[in-house]
Amino acid sequence: MASDFTQQIRQKAIELLENGTVECVIGYETGSDGIGARPAFIYDAAEADRLVFDNTCTHNLVKYLLNKKGKSTAVVVKGCDSRALNLLLNEKQIERDKAFVIGVVCPGIVEWGWNKRSQRLQKRCDWCRQHTPVVSDFMVGDPVTEQPPAAFADIVEAEAKTAEERASFWQQHAERCIRCYACRQACPGCYCTDCFAESLDPEWVGIRIAPAESQMWNTIRAFHLAGRCISCNECERVCPVKLPLSLLNRKLEQKVLELFDYKAGMSEDAPAPLITFKKDEKLGIAE
Ligand code: SF4
Ligand code: SF4
Ligand code: SF4
Repeated sequence: MASDFTQQIRQKAIELLENGTVECVIGYETGSDGIGARPAFIYDAAEADRLVFDNTCTHNLVKYLLNKKGKSTAVVVKGCDSRALNLLLNEKQIERDKAFVIGVVCPGIVEWGWNKRSQRLQKRCDWCRQHTPVVSDFMVGDPVTEQPPAAFADIVEAEAKTAEERASFWQQHAERCIRCYACRQACPGCYCTDCFAESLDPEWVGIRIAPAESQMWNTIRAFHLAGRCISCNECERVCPVKLPLSLLNRKLEQKVLELFDYKAGMSEDAPAPLITFKKDEKLGIAE
């Protein structure tokens, strides 16, 4: 299957570059260890044979479209990545007519690292309910019937704890955060040119690498992604100290679904609840 997907992506890339539909195709190529895939930027049809698709194509490439504003670009997206595309369209960060979307019905991505690849699926792929991209101009693979939402045992376990126990749990994890911002850099929803975490005027949170500041950084980032997180789990994957970021993200996603019947990235134009104001939602605040 992987080689068939690879061939289809290469052929489409050649066609798009040769007829001038796009000036760049963002996809995957095999990295220098010969095992894991890395992002590839193809500008010339003669280079399209660098493109691959296999079960190490983990990166969410949609984020790179932010650097291609105004330029016609094709991008390879898996199911989860496609929700990021809708998120950025919804927030007016990219233009639909500049993006050609090569959707891949994703068979799942495995855990891998430098020079090694396991056969174990990543956590997000175990609980995935969006293998088929929600937006595409060309589809690789046959759409699949998605399963009903997963129940998350780790969320149930966390909810059974007292507020003090939960606070202590997150405090201990926050103390391990080294403020490298890899989570932010990988996240398609984190695109502010000036992140609050590094702003000195106003100083929302100190830049000191210390428990209180790290806890504040992780808490505010989670709030900023509430109702916007598209569950790609790239933040947790790239975190060098393996903070359980998806526990927080999935809980917030569940809460937004429950309160607003809204799941981020499923549609290009559905109004997002936390950036939409209705007058009758004033919650008793005076005129
Ligand atoms: S979460 Fe779903 S779409 Fe995303 S990589 Fe895993 S299986 Fe593929
Ligand atoms: S917060 Fe994490 S899981 Fe959510 S969109 Fe950002 S990188 Fe993906
Ligand atoms: S990737 Fe992990 S260590 Fe780095 S800032 Fe994010 S939470 Fe902290």
